[in-house]
Amino acid sequence: PSTGRVLHTLNIRLFPEQLAFVVNHGEDEVVVVDASVLPLLAAVLDQLTTVKHFVVYGEGDLSALEGRSVHAYEELLAAEQPGYEWPELDERAAAAMCYTSGTTGDPKGVVYSHRSTWLHSLVAASGNGFAMTDRDKVLAVVPMFHANAWGLPYIAWAAGADLLMPARFLQAEPLAKVIQNEKPTFAGAVPTIWNDLLSYARKNGTDLSSMRFVVCGGAAVPRSLIEAYDELGVRIVQGWGMTETSPLAALSNPPKQATAADDVTWRARTGRVMLGVQMRVVDDSGTVQPWDGTSVGEVQVRGPWITGEYYRVDAADRFDDGWLRTGDVASVDRKGFVQITDRAKDVIKSGGEWISSVDLENALMAHPEVHEAAVVSVPDARWDERPLACVVRTPGSDVTPEQLRDHLLPLIAKWWMPERWSFIEEVPKTSVGKFDKKVLRKRHAEGDLQVEQLAP
Ligand code: ADP
Repeated sequence: PSTGRVLHTLNIRLFPEQLAFVVNHGEDEVVVVDASVLPLLAAVLDQLTTVKHFVVYGEGDLSALEGRSVHAYEELLAAEQPGYEWPELDERAAAAMCYTSGTTGDPKGVVYSHRSTWLHSLVAASGNGFAMTDRDKVLAVVPMFHANAWGLPYIAWAAGADLLMPARFLQAEPLAKVIQNEKPTFAGAVPTIWNDLLSYARKNGTDLSSMRFVVCGGAAVPRSLIEAYDELGVRIVQGWGMTETSPLAALSNPPKQATAADDVTWRARTGRVMLGVQMRVVDDSGTVQPWDGTSVGEVQVRGPWITGEYYRVDAADRFDDGWLRTGDVASVDRKGFVQITDRAKDVIKSGGEWISSVDLENALMAHPEVHEAAVVSVPDARWDERPLACVVRTPGSDVTPEQLRDHLLPLIAKWWMPERWSFIEEVPKTSVGKFDKKVLRKRHAEGDLQVEQLAP
């Protein structure tokens, strides 16, 4: 980016048509590709209309690129002459772009300027952010193509911290090894990754305690996960953000009034709005709600690193006078802590009232024999919609719906209690490891889930 080019990270887990779509739509001219994913590139090569050069990192079979302009990354570096004159760039010029994962319609591009990246890095690295310094060693686990995860390397760089980038080795075992050998002090990833790592670390006695701060987000972080890591000497702090927000917009560092007893409760909240970001909650009728911790509506944000538009797409309905409509449903308390109860597209509206799938999942995952749980809305003749609890048991467990119901009883409102239960092998995940509730709803609609029904 500092040469004036725009860095566009490609999501290698998109469907081929979507991958070709984002390269063409972004008018990418050079593709830098790791040799290990050349087959993915080969599958879309013929559809790419703007790419002039390919830069290949590592050794691999280049036959698919025959007849094209191909460069070896290491050779390009070796040929570099000293004395390159860095251009003076306008701070508002584009530095990078990232496309949303396209869960609804085509992926949409978000462009980050040098200025927005800089401001995002400063606030994120600051004391109320990650409090990062040059003594930190940062393990960046979120793939760089996801929600501008490049935000983290920039933050680390601004602070002078060291960086560990695990490439494609994002499974529990290699992560545990890298943590044990390299002793990072800081790491970031989505909850499912930390959940898998937790099981592995418990089984193998892995020492994870070098990490002083783990930022976890991308999906709601179960309280039980935060507590489990506390026991291992690792402090999880929840973060909230999205592709459109660079990504960090809220972080759950407890306020100074926090006590040892409620420290976890603060971190289990979605996060406190970051310095520089404005936040409001707007109900269905367009009324801005008070920050009282109970009034619920759609979260809207704006600020120097929040996008005000999508790249070459008219999506006026996603913005309101510079405010980004996030599609997340939440309340905000007096101190600016936001609590996401659902995504607009995942809400369960039962008898006209909202049931929070996020709260239900958290309560379920607090049961020691529940490995993962996703709660989705299913049609109901009487209440329009009711929750269906899809549960992955821990290995060897035969916990029953009745037992799980007893566990939930003291934790949730009575009318939230799921009648429908399904035990599944695994919760389907999106390309970045978030629960894919769309798939669960579809499987249920197609009669593909075995459902046990308890009497209400
Ligand atoms: P998508 O998941 O739709 O592809 P992003 O990858 O940009 O889009 O993720 C942004 C979304 O992730 C947010 O709008 C929100 O729904 C969810 N999210 C991120 N962090 C959290 C969090 N801490 N708690 C709950 N939801 C979160």
